[in-house]
Amino acid sequence: MSTEAWLDVSAFSCPQCHMCYVEASWYASEIGSDVECGRCHATFNTKKNLTDRVLLRFQLDEQGKLVNVAFSSDQNRASEEQERSSGRGREF
Ligand SMILES: [Zn+2]
Repeated sequence: MSTEAWLDVSAFSCPQCHMCYVEASWYASEIGSDVECGRCHATFNTKKNLTDRVLLRFQLDEQGKLVNVAFSSDQNRASEEQERSSGRGREF
């Protein structure tokens, strides 16, 4: 029996050197932590420098091993947008 799992991720970039990063959305979008750029060492806020947010869909095998990952469907992404704008929590 294979199963699926999801991960909400956010992309952001360093405002000084434009290096791109991806972190879990609970960290980058919800908490909006300050981080140090690994390339130029500038300190910046992840939430103020977001460039995208997507839901990833993982497929796992019978042993719980990850076998595939893909963008979630546009429908799931749209419902995620809707949940965020309505202020409701995520369902996963
Ligand atoms: Zn930088």
